[in-house]
Amino acid sequence: MELRDTYNRKIDYLRLSVTDRCNLRCVYCMPKGMPVCSSPSRCLSKETILRFVSIARKHGLRKIRFTGGEPLLRKDLIEIVRGISELGIEDLSLTTNGQMLAGRVEELKAAGIKRVNISIDALNARKYHFITGGGCLDKALESMRVAQRHGLSPVKINMVPIRSINEDEILSFAELSYHNPYQVRFIELMPVGDLSWSEKRRMLSQEVMGLIEKSYGRLVPLDVEGVSRNFRIQGASGTLGFISPMSDHFCGSCNRLRITSRGMLKTCLFSDKELKIKQRLSDKEMEELLLRAIREKPAGREERACLAKAMSQVGG
Ligand code: SAM
Ligand code: SF4
Repeated sequence: MELRDTYNRKIDYLRLSVTDRCNLRCVYCMPKGMPVCSSPSRCLSKETILRFVSIARKHGLRKIRFTGGEPLLRKDLIEIVRGISELGIEDLSLTTNGQMLAGRVEELKAAGIKRVNISIDALNARKYHFITGGGCLDKALESMRVAQRHGLSPVKINMVPIRSINEDEILSFAELSYHNPYQVRFIELMPVGDLSWSEKRRMLSQEVMGLIEKSYGRLVPLDVEGVSRNFRIQGASGTLGFISPMSDHFCGSCNRLRITSRGMLKTCLFSDKELKIKQRLSDKEMEELLLRAIREKPAGREERACLAKAMSQVGG
């Protein structure tokens, strides 16, 4: 069975935030003053997650990304991944800050994770430490190498360019993709909490691409994979992707559902509309909730919409 929304979009992808706790404090993700980090008991339980996924799978769900907060902080993550894998969902991936990934790659792979995205916003250790509120660049780089060695590939590197903060790092990431088989993805800064801060600091994909082309020549267009427009520097081992939620809305082809760490089902990142997945719902009621969410998925986002929740709660 296939899930199609009112606008005939096929919905087969779930981004599952398993916790809103995080060991870092990235400047753009958890703005000061926003409530973050609820106790683990407020998160959706493993059993409820598995029940929801089992129902959604019957309706055509085929791809899940685990996110957070930092998903590796969730104690029963491996059991959740294994349980979902046993339900028959094969396309399982994880987005992480890479601070704790290196030593856990093998167990994640054995549980069913196929690919990882690692968020790295600077290749200069001091800058990385500043942006992440205390993170260690070496740990993130080590995770990237270990993931590649163990075949959790293509390893994708998420980089959010921020004017006057890490714009001078953009070419270093281009260079990284030139010499290594990584997929570096530049993500436009999205507004969380304070709209004016992000408007001042945002670098649009076109500007980032222009900067790279000035040094490396015209980028070779590859494919469009989900929300990422992909390119390669001529002769490079890796690729460069541009994710443009602010300058090039991809609402028309959106195939996503989201579940926040507290079990709210969202059909649009930029909408406040959420449906609560309660533990006590029967399977039938849970199925009805899912179908209702899909029916009510908006056609597109509102202009100048701003996320009212920290990205760490929604999962990015
Ligand atoms: N903690 C994990 C990590 O950092 O990869 C997973 C959760 S994090 C919320 C998921 C992704 O969202 C990261 O790649 C992060 O860079 C991105 N992100 C967070 N806040 C953002 C914002 N305001 N604009 C654009 N991307 C953002
Ligand atoms: Fe934590 Fe990821 Fe948000 Fe950074 S982007 S604060 S690592 S959840």
